[in-house]
Amino acid sequence: MISAYPHLIDLNDYPVTWWNGLLAQAEDIMNRPFLYANSCSGKIMGTLFYEPSTRTQMSFQTAMLRLGGTIIGFDNPQTSSVAKGENLKDTTKIISGYSDVLVIRHPTVGAAKAAALTADCPVINAGDGGHLHPTQTLTDLLTLKAEKKTLSGLTIGLCGDLLNGRTVHSLCKAMSCYENNHFIMISTKELKMPSYIKDTIRAHGGTFEETDSLEEALPKLDVLYMTRIQRERFASPEEYEAQKDTYILTTQKMKLAKPDMIVMHPLPRVDEIEVAVDDDPRALYFKQAKYGMYIRMSLILTMLQSTIKTELLAGQVHKGIACKNPKCITNQEYYLPKSFTGTGTTLTCEYCDERLLLEH
Ligand code: ASP
Repeated sequence: MISAYPHLIDLNDYPVTWWNGLLAQAEDIMNRPFLYANSCSGKIMGTLFYEPSTRTQMSFQTAMLRLGGTIIGFDNPQTSSVAKGENLKDTTKIISGYSDVLVIRHPTVGAAKAAALTADCPVINAGDGGHLHPTQTLTDLLTLKAEKKTLSGLTIGLCGDLLNGRTVHSLCKAMSCYENNHFIMISTKELKMPSYIKDTIRAHGGTFEETDSLEEALPKLDVLYMTRIQRERFASPEEYEAQKDTYILTTQKMKLAKPDMIVMHPLPRVDEIEVAVDDDPRALYFKQAKYGMYIRMSLILTMLQSTIKTELLAGQVHKGIACKNPKCITNQEYYLPKSFTGTGTTLTCEYCDERLLLEH
């Protein structure tokens, strides 16, 4: 299914040259903001936040306001008709008709793609469950480019909840498209990186190793990307309690790191980085959040100017086959076409990327 609009659902739907163009434009916006102050004048951005957000939501809003545009939307679905039982399709159809660009965050995997299927304007994925977060990754790419001066040849440590953390999923998929990046995945065995992300890294020629020791990994790293344990994605409080506080970055541990290693974090921080680390010049996470506003300015501008059409579903609709991932949007919004790529006994759901093994 080809949509008439440019959507950003997964960064890897676009070529690296497109990302590089966004980064270059963001750098220009940082240097010459006055040139862009009215570039979205008369345009409206709709924001549908079905899940809590501070930075993503407010940086998108600020970005649009700094471009001279205006904003509408909700940050609590309970104050909208969602509380009356309205489905995602209807809400998207209506608000996209009011807006020039729509930003959506949703707790369910694949929701942004589902919204794009019906939207009458470009849709930007601001986080779909534990799946992807492409605009955080654009933020991270801009931070790396500005602070490390390169996007290649880096050893990147990813620490914490690698299973449920959508930011590390998108980051690995993107950074493996640049040359010679090596990932060190630091997690407990319960919270390891999903296999479809590791497959993508391999397919792009990237390399990775897995460990449960932050201390052992630290001396090797150019970048340490810390994440919080995603409490809201656990099946029970007990499972969360068993994982929390496993990895805490302290000033003591920072002594093991290279003098030019940088510490990134998509935020919010819970307690995985001791507050005293904030005073270390290698702690980049607050600056990183500010880069997020500039890259979102660049993205909004590009989406409003682009005439690209997006291929949303490229596979086949299989009647009678359902995705086995309970967190997939197709198991919540039943009207969605259940579309899969692949052939034979191995199909991949086009909404959540989960692999489905069929039995004969
Ligand atoms: N703010 C990021 C996200 O929305 C990271 C997090 O919540 O832990 O995924």
